[in-house]
Amino acid sequence: MAIFMSKKKDYYEVLGVAKQATQEEIKKSFREKAMKFHPDRNPTNREQAEKNFKEINEAYEILGDEVKRKNYDNYGSGNSSGGFTNSGSSGFGGFEDLHDIFKGFGSNSGFGGFEEFFGGGNKKQSDSRQKGDDLSYNMSITLEEACFGKKDQTISFSTLIECEPCNGYGSTDKKTSECKKCNGTGVLRTQKGFFIMEQACGNCKGSGNSINNPCKTCKGEGRMEGKKTVKTDIPPGVDNGVSIRISGKGEAGQRKAPSGDLYIKVSVKSHDLFKRIGELIVCDVPVSFTKAALGGTIQVPTIDGKMVDLDISPGTQPDSSFIMKGKGPTIINSGRRGDMKVNIKIEVPIHLDSEQKRLIKELDATLKPETTPQNNTFLNRIKRAFDNK
Ligand SMILES: [Zn+2]
Ligand SMILES: [Zn+2]
Repeated sequence: MAIFMSKKKDYYEVLGVAKQATQEEIKKSFREKAMKFHPDRNPTNREQAEKNFKEINEAYEILGDEVKRKNYDNYGSGNSSGGFTNSGSSGFGGFEDLHDIFKGFGSNSGFGGFEEFFGGGNKKQSDSRQKGDDLSYNMSITLEEACFGKKDQTISFSTLIECEPCNGYGSTDKKTSECKKCNGTGVLRTQKGFFIMEQACGNCKGSGNSINNPCKTCKGEGRMEGKKTVKTDIPPGVDNGVSIRISGKGEAGQRKAPSGDLYIKVSVKSHDLFKRIGELIVCDVPVSFTKAALGGTIQVPTIDGKMVDLDISPGTQPDSSFIMKGKGPTIINSGRRGDMKVNIKIEVPIHLDSEQKRLIKELDATLKPETTPQNNTFLNRIKRAFDNK
């Protein structure tokens, strides 16, 4: 059923170092990038710089620590509480190094802003409301549905939904008001000499909103446990393992923050008659040895649920195959149909009565080397191999 998914940044990429980089190299690259992206050095593109700055700090906190780095390499995460946005008392790995770096520029008195900028506690630079997580939902469908799509699929799952009593605002007033201290920006700015300092607003914890009467159901979270029902179409041509992303239909965010996305992971049930291999539908069709010898028309089932005629040539051999154009699966995002491959499985009759046996014996007596060329070649090879001894 529904499980959580998480997306990960590659910290090595963020710092621009190789996976085998030494601690020295990681530190050097971190310093360079920290200089480059320090928000005070990017007044025209401050917002992006802050984002980058936080990102490189987060990466350095993990990669700059051998233990956390090892964890990250093995499990894809340093530790759960790492990262800038969570830095409480434990930490901010790069802090001391940054201190060194910025001693170099600006006056020492102006530097105070830096510490405030990165101070511990729960200060955050911008909206601190948590976005909803992405969710993954497994859906099992038939091969026909995978080939031709399926309209109006309704799926239901348990997740965090917008709180009903407060409509997701987290307050029984059913609205939030702008924080008066920061005018709704979530950030307090002060100028100290050379530097402009930014600090998350303590009044609203950086959210920019103040909640007047926290909702009892969600305790001001704006979301609660509940059931979500989503209606969607499965597009024609999906294959096993394909994920369909439905934007904004995952877990609800805190107090109207954006919801996560829903990923519908398709698994295609096996089919009694057909197999899908890439752009082909493959079907094994038994053909009697007499029909294979004489040639003619056989009836073949298709994924469309119809029987169609297929002409096979006289002397059709076991495991030969025929391609039927346009009888395969829909190719996703193209509207085009692939082909169907018919594998001929020649069946030798069993339980013959005496009359049938007599007829086959009669036939057998008339067979000449040129009517069974494979057998003929085989006999010649045996002869050559044994004569050479
Ligand atoms: Zn505020
Ligand atoms: Zn509520």
